[in-house]
Amino acid sequence: MQLRQGLRVLRRAADEVQVGLDPRWAVRVAGLSTERADRLLRAGDRRVDDALPAPALDALGAAGLLRPAGSRPRRVRPDLRPEVLAHGLAREDGDGVGAVRRRARSTVAVVGLGRPGVVVAGTLAVAGVGTLVLVDPRPPGPGLPAAAAGGAARAGADDGARTPDRATAVAGSLRGVAPGARVRTAPGPGGLLTDPHDVVVTVATDAPDPATALTLLGADVPHLPVVTREADALVGPFVRPARPGDDPLCCLRCLDLQRAAADPAWPVVLAQLVGPRPGDAVAEPPAALAAVAGGLAAAEVLAHLDGGEPRTLGAQYEIPVPSVAPRLRRWAAHPECGCAAPGA
Ligand SMILES: [Zn+2]
Repeated sequence: MQLRQGLRVLRRAADEVQVGLDPRWAVRVAGLSTERADRLLRAGDRRVDDALPAPALDALGAAGLLRPAGSRPRRVRPDLRPEVLAHGLAREDGDGVGAVRRRARSTVAVVGLGRPGVVVAGTLAVAGVGTLVLVDPRPPGPGLPAAAAGGAARAGADDGARTPDRATAVAGSLRGVAPGARVRTAPGPGGLLTDPHDVVVTVATDAPDPATALTLLGADVPHLPVVTREADALVGPFVRPARPGDDPLCCLRCLDLQRAAADPAWPVVLAQLVGPRPGDAVAEPPAALAAVAGGLAAAEVLAHLDGGEPRTLGAQYEIPVPSVAPRLRRWAAHPECGCAAPGA
């Protein structure tokens, strides 16, 4: 047997070694001779089963820190090693390489490239998602992060003097930071249904567009809304086609039906939130809120692509300024929505 990859191995005493730092799996291996403690500290990819006494191997095995010796490490791009190592340790099956390879075969669209959308797209590209489709016809605005503004300058240089739209600008910056990702742009969310997408992330101000959500729901496309408001952000619910054995899970329309039940004026308010904003100001969230909301949204998408369960299935992260500490709020499916009906 060998130690799993990505573990820190540390000396605690002459006869004691600690394997792992994360309290989910870290173990202390005590009662070793100095020579055996040294061998464990230098184990790397070498076998440990002929170097350690049975109780030490039992402790490492019980903590899930061993893998069969001699299994050839599977090759991945060096820039994806952080994903492989951390996800390999955290996953039950230990297969970080398999998870990253699934990401490479995946296509994710990001609709709305303000600050949080740029964080979502950039994080997914760097985390190994194979194809990103970017949708935002607006011109690059002053709220766009510096990296994307650099992309705008490059895209503009490629395209003569014409100012590129925001999707083209962000695509230019992503090709710089994640050369392994295929990045293309699409004119609008309607065009997303012509090609298969594994997930569509919609990023909006004030409220997600119910029409887009309904279109994606009707087409069985997994989707995740991100919304920023005056001083908070909402991420979720993650909506995907129901699987056998699922409890009924809410969709965006379920949330609107529940809000309307609690506040009869909600449809009137919602119509204003998704319509044109007064004046021409497009509110961008503060930087730390955009980073946290965008990062959480990207993690939800990756959980789905990696074969896991996003935490916002049937729930929503609420992220308030100034702490930007997320709170997970659960929402039930609304009985009149029909989205979670058997066979839906
Ligand atoms: Zn619903």
